[in-house]
Amino acid sequence: MSDSDEKLRRLRTAPELPCPACGLPQEEARTPEHDLVRLEPALRVPAHVVPAERRWIELSDGRVTVYGVCPVDGAQQCRIEHVLVCPDQDLPDLWPWLTVVREETRRRAERRRATPELPEAG
Ligand SMILES: [Zn+2]
Repeated sequence: MSDSDEKLRRLRTAPELPCPACGLPQEEARTPEHDLVRLEPALRVPAHVVPAERRWIELSDGRVTVYGVCPVDGAQQCRIEHVLVCPDQDLPDLWPWLTVVREETRRRAERRRATPELPEAG
């Protein structure tokens, strides 16, 4: 991408606005549905390391959309929301299925501690 392409792309996107939590700039982008997404500026990461619903890719018109393709193209890069790297906000639940499993194992561990002599039921 040439410098003029980069300038054009920046003109088409919303300006960078400070994060209300940490004060660092966030880049605002629109989805085709006109929703606003606050992206971490200048950060691109391999899509396969990001949960599908958290991957954002840029369209040719400067808007962004979720890259939910599965399986992921190993070469695909994506952008992520600032909230995922913000030092002053709680990290969202990135892997909900894993959170469900953790809650279940927490309950199993609590049952085992409460009644250590009983065999674990399937
Ligand atoms: Zn922040």
